[in-house]
Amino acid sequence: MIEQNNSAVKRVVIVGGGTAGWLVAASLAAHFDTSDQGFSVILVESDTVGTIGVGEGTWPSMRTTLNKIGISETEFVRQCGASFKQGSQFRGWSQGGGESYYHPFSLPEQFTSVNPWDWWQSTNSEADYANTVSSQASVCEASKAPKQIDMPGYAYALNYGYHLDAGKFAELLRTHSTERLGVNHIVDHLVGVETDADDFLVGVRGEKSGLIEGDLFIDCSGFHAFLLNGYYGIGVNTEPSKYLFNDRALAVQLPYENEQSPIASVTLGTAHSAGWTWDIGLQHRRGVGRIFSSAHQTDDEAEAGLRDYVQQTAPHVKFDELSPRQIKFQSGFRDKFWHKNCVAVGLSAGFVEPLEASALVLVELSAKFLCDHMPVDRQTMAITAKRFNAQFTYRWKEIVRFLKLHYVLNRRSDSEYWQAHRQTETSPDDLIELLALWHTRAPWHQDEGRVDDLFPSASYQYVLYGMGFETKGNGHVKRHAPNFDAVSRLRHQQEQKYLSHLPTNRELVQQLLTREFRAP
Ligand SMILES: Cc1cc2nc3c(=O)[nH]c(=O)nc-3n(C[C@H](O)[C@H](O)[C@H](O)COP(=O)(O)OP(=O)(O)OC[C@H]3O[C@@H](n4cnc5c(N)ncnc54)[C@H](O)[C@@H]3O)c2cc1C
Repeated sequence: MIEQNNSAVKRVVIVGGGTAGWLVAASLAAHFDTSDQGFSVILVESDTVGTIGVGEGTWPSMRTTLNKIGISETEFVRQCGASFKQGSQFRGWSQGGGESYYHPFSLPEQFTSVNPWDWWQSTNSEADYANTVSSQASVCEASKAPKQIDMPGYAYALNYGYHLDAGKFAELLRTHSTERLGVNHIVDHLVGVETDADDFLVGVRGEKSGLIEGDLFIDCSGFHAFLLNGYYGIGVNTEPSKYLFNDRALAVQLPYENEQSPIASVTLGTAHSAGWTWDIGLQHRRGVGRIFSSAHQTDDEAEAGLRDYVQQTAPHVKFDELSPRQIKFQSGFRDKFWHKNCVAVGLSAGFVEPLEASALVLVELSAKFLCDHMPVDRQTMAITAKRFNAQFTYRWKEIVRFLKLHYVLNRRSDSEYWQAHRQTETSPDDLIELLALWHTRAPWHQDEGRVDDLFPSASYQYVLYGMGFETKGNGHVKRHAPNFDAVSRLRHQQEQKYLSHLPTNRELVQQLLTREFRAP
């Protein structure tokens, strides 16, 4: 044990070289001046423990993150096998048949001033909700890209994130961080820590490197949570697993039938009797995974279900030649994320099932928080830690609530899994309250405690009305009706323009092989 140290935060040590570790490293090194010895970022990753190797869907926020850390969009798309993701399509979640709905990333037309529910009701409440209020659903249906090749990098016609190859992404971030941003990279398996009299970390001990000293430690060691759990023993709040039953994934990678096969513009999420199957189209392959609840389905049943899915959607692939990879997890998040001078980011902070791909966005938000609020010394660190813990506990809870919304409204009668999802005690109380409210009026900007923090009220509407939820509305409200016809006409014009001018997702990634997006 070493004496207490109140010095300024100058050396940040990141433990773990998965997507979380490298995103944080790149964000910090792009934000702070690492050119002299004043501030340095060191990333240590084990040579014996691998990365999780999944995590292929991002939110639109990734565009801002990549731009900020200085990676051009062309380089990113080329090197990560990436394609453009404009949201998700959910198939069979409501009744288990051929029904489906979109949750697109673009907000409905005129969203700041016009509540799209009013508009939908005033036009045709029998029509598909997403298709009525947004032009993006039909763009996705046509596997179109969200932009054209002659637009600047990261700019868009329709809002988008990415589908990417997680392994290649970590590689690109590593090269960029070490070669262009001055991050120090150490490959070594960590076996211990050194602390001071206040139980603050002063260093982590590697098998080969000995003590690696630092002032602030970011635990990005994945499910191992080497520092926050391994040393500090901070546990996981597993309450989310009461609401979100899935705890297994079975993942495979599928080649396309040929080089011209369409690339889907959305993550496809197809419900099955005990969970759902993700289907993500990259440039060179699809990533497909069956998410299921081990309490409701055996491993053999899950594999048989995955086999059926592959045979139906990729008849050119021989399932027996694939090696499905099983990943076990439990939905939950740490009781706190920042303790003393150690902050958990990524899987070490928590994980809830990958519906709506909410993990990387939390990494991006954590990195942004660290850039914006980096404590200058130990005195301010406790205040910063308290704020970080409050903000991220709120965000994890919001994600759990939003994910549960996809399940609670189902009307499927084919399995105990879906029936259990409808029982009141399997939903968080605040979701039950919100649903009662939304039966009387549609979600709107102020419904979340923090306005549109992670999910805008439009996202709640896309899921609610996609699932067939009914809002009665308050018949006594005076309608200072905006001109809904004009909004409808605008939406229709936009749709026609996008459908006739945008390339397909496949065409855009092919154009990027020889041409580049302009600088943003
Ligand atoms: C089935 C599944 C699907 C997912 N899909 C999505 C998705 O679509 N979108 C999304 O945003 N997220 C998704 N995620 C989450 C996403 O994969 C992770 O958030 C992301 O990859 C970050 O992982 P990580 O870097 O925290 O951990 P990891 O990738 O596990 O990296 C951990 C790192 O810590 C290092 N390490 C561990 N122990 C030590 C030690 N003792 N010494 C030194 N180093 C050590 C390892 O070497 C490794 O470098 C998914 C997750 C799962 C399980």
